[in-house]
Amino acid sequence: MTAQSPNGDGLRLTAKVFSDIERRDADQPEFRQAVHEVLESLEPALERHADYIDDRVLERLCEPERQIIFRVPWTDDAGDIRVNRGFRVEFNSALGPYKGGLRFHPSVDLGIVKFLGFEQTFKNALTGLPIGGGKGGSDFDPKGRSDAEVMRFCQSFMTELHRHLGEYTDVPAGDVGVGRREIGYLFGQYKRITNRYESGVLTGKGLNWGGSQVRTEATGYGTVYFVREMLRSRGEDLDGRRVVVSGSGNVAIYAAQKAAELGATVVALSDSGGYVVDDSGIDLDAVRDIKEARSGRIKEYLDRHNRARYVDGGNIWDVPCEIALPCATQNELDRTAAETLVRNGLVAVGEGANMPTTPEAVKVFSDAGVRFGPGKAANAGGVATSGLEMQQNASRDSWHFDYTDKRLSDIMADIHTMCSETAEAYGAPGNYVLGANIAGFIKVADTMRDLGVI
Ligand code: NAP
Repeated sequence: MTAQSPNGDGLRLTAKVFSDIERRDADQPEFRQAVHEVLESLEPALERHADYIDDRVLERLCEPERQIIFRVPWTDDAGDIRVNRGFRVEFNSALGPYKGGLRFHPSVDLGIVKFLGFEQTFKNALTGLPIGGGKGGSDFDPKGRSDAEVMRFCQSFMTELHRHLGEYTDVPAGDVGVGRREIGYLFGQYKRITNRYESGVLTGKGLNWGGSQVRTEATGYGTVYFVREMLRSRGEDLDGRRVVVSGSGNVAIYAAQKAAELGATVVALSDSGGYVVDDSGIDLDAVRDIKEARSGRIKEYLDRHNRARYVDGGNIWDVPCEIALPCATQNELDRTAAETLVRNGLVAVGEGANMPTTPEAVKVFSDAGVRFGPGKAANAGGVATSGLEMQQNASRDSWHFDYTDKRLSDIMADIHTMCSETAEAYGAPGNYVLGANIAGFIKVADTMRDLGVI
């Protein structure tokens, strides 16, 4: 039975929690942005459930359970010693072991890892799987490093991190800069140090050593499945739609592939150097060869297809489309870009990346009636399939591609239903941001209350 809060309590509490965070985490803009976005949409839930206010669930949810920062010394190919900083933020374990990726990128700092861990907690709750939230990484830049350097870095990173991990404790995966190669080196070092073949300690593994079918494709495919559900709910589909996808990494490539499979034409992709436009539809085999096989630059696409054009720098959101899938990085789509997209006939957005759309841009979409799938719902397919990988590891089983893909597509449809029904129940039909935040929050908050003040 939920208690009714006198009007205005929710608003006062979220303002108070946020002002505490502004003060304590002043140097973490991305974390403050992520918390602000969630708190704003929780007010209707707090108005209905005064018990959350009394139990200080919100304050507890905004403070990570544990934050680990460590030195990562390693030797480069020239024999010079380098030192990077490693992080693991174990945000919330109410629903299960901490779960969330590792990011290796020069921009990684505590604020970035906390924002990602905070988002992850709600995202993981939406999957319906028993997983808590965490995130980690390092300011190490794997770009331009040899395999041997990346291996030595990963071994050093895991030499410290291993003591905090375990299949029932904390289960990392990949993220930006951490793919199959890095997961292999990390798993190898974990196995060596612990003398245990504990497959469930990391996800995103290779198929020969405990990995799951569809994990590589899952975030991108899942994002498009979510967009398909948003369109379906209005009697529409992806067939014949013009789609722009930012990035050309793991999420972007498989989002583009699934969109094309469902009949859309993907006309543009990017990397941090610029973007390529091919109106007849991007040749994804060429992109995979350039980016996945040879770690090249997206502009090399022109060497394969001279019908395409490349824009150095620039803004990919200038390319007209009906569906936008930001799949590169945080805050890559701002208000000006959103206004351009709306003017050009945008119908729907699915966030493949984490927090790629600024709050001002989200408002532009909402005012224009564009269907907007926020990352914690739309890109949850990656972690959901990691959860499926953990299930296979626990039962020493491995499932077929089609079966796993069907599980993924069902999970994304369930997440869509949950967000949409929650938004409706709180008087904001079609507001997936509010639906995702409240549905994720209630699940974690109820569990935290059941477990006492811990
Ligand atoms: P990735 O494989 O490392 O790819 C990132 C891509 O984004 C690269 O093509 C990169 O270009 C591009 N990029 C980075 N900064 C950019 C910028 N400012 N403008 C344009 N392009 C830029 O990483 P990923 O795994 O696809 O992750 C992408 C996003 O999805 C991240 O926000 C991540 O947290 C999120 N996500 C990932 C997963 C997952 O399972 N991998 C799950 C959920 C969410 P360069 O090649 O030039 O660096």
